[in-house]
Order: sequence, then structure tokens, then C-alpha cells
Amino acid sequence: MFNIILFGPPGSGKGTQSERLIAKYQLKHLSTGDLLRSEIAAKTPLGLEAKSVMDKGQLVPDEVVIGMISSALDHNPQTKGFLFDGFPRTASQSEALDKLLKLKHSEINVMLSLEVSEEELVKRLLNRGLTSGRSDDTSEEVVSARIAEYHKKTSVVADYYKNFNKVVSIKGEGTVDEIFNALSDEIDKRLS
Ligand code: ADP
Repeated sequence: MFNIILFGPPGSGKGTQSERLIAKYQLKHLSTGDLLRSEIAAKTPLGLEAKSVMDKGQLVPDEVVIGMISSALDHNPQTKGFLFDGFPRTASQSEALDKLLKLKHSEINVMLSLEVSEEELVKRLLNRGLTSGRSDDTSEEVVSARIAEYHKKTSVVADYYKNFNKVVSIKGEGTVDEIFNALSDEIDKRLS
């Protein structure tokens, strides 16, 4: 398996680039944000609990997202690899992911980290809020809270993978095609 973490702050373009990358490399897309939004749409108890946390811009408890990822890994035994998007988002999530992959005799091959300025992030998120129907994109307060959570809890995830020399930074500003090509180049290098 070839497993990628697409990393970056909220609004850095992970969702857009993930769609293209999974099509090109035939990977299974695992977005914890999408999985949580499906739970909300289905009005499950987990979804109802997660919604109140997400609407405040805070992170859902580790055990909830780790459980979702663990079951997704078990349900896709035949995949060529996974593209993790929005996960791991805390140090404990990283450790849990490594353990789960080890059980499958696999590992993270690379973390691709999208770098975008704070000003651009806020602009993109509020802009997306106009059309996405995502309640966490409409208020500047919630958007700022999400970016603050990123600095407080998520940016350390990159340090964790840096220790294993697995992180590559990619400029996340430019056209969607330019960024996609830069990401693809890094993946191709490691696949060949
Ligand atoms: P964005 O990258 O734009 O913040 P996501 O769809 O990845 O969007 O996440 C939306 C929200 O879902 C987050 O603000 C958080 O509340 C919750 N969430 C998603 N992934 C995780 C995770 N791995 N751990 C904890 N909470 C998560």
C-alpha cells in the first residue's frame, strides 16, 4: 500500500486536491470531516454530538475520529493505498494511525503539507461559506477558532512526521493545476 497524509490548515485546499489525487492514483479517500458530516446528515447519535463541537470550531474527541478511521481501514482491505485528509489532527491521532497501519503491515509513505498564508485561509473559508452550506464556514469567529485549534493542536502533527523524514512542504497558493502538479511530482518520485 502507498499511504499519503495531505496536511494543512483549514482552507488550505486539501479537499479539492484530494479529489484529484484519488482519481489519479486510485487511492481510497479518508476525510474525517466528510465522515463526520455524513454522520450529521444521517442524524446518528455520533453525528449529533459531533455537530455541536464542530460548530464551535473545536476538534471532535480523538477516540471518535480514531474509531471512524479504524473501521474505514478494516472495510477497505483491497485498496492500493489511503489518502488521509483532515486526519491525523492531534499527536495522539498520529500515534494511533501508525499503530493501526502497522497492524496491516503498512505505514505512512509521505506527508504532503500545503502552506497557505493566514489571510488567504480566512478569505477562502468565508468565501466557501457563501455556497458550501457548511455552518462552520459562515462566521468569522468560528473560522478563527478553527485556525487557532490548528495552531494549538494540529501543527505538532507535522513535527511528529518530520522526525521520520516524511514531510514535504508544498506551496498551497497558485492555480489548482499548479498545486496538483507539485503534489503529483512528489508522489511520483516516491512511487518510482
Ligand atoms: P477543514 O479542513 O476546512 O477544517 P474538515 O472537513 O477537515 O474541514 O473538518 C471540519 C471539522 O470537523 C473540524 O473543524 C473538526 O471539528 C472536525 N474534525 C475533522 N477531522 C477531525 C479530526 N481528525 N479530529 C478532530 N476533529 C475533526
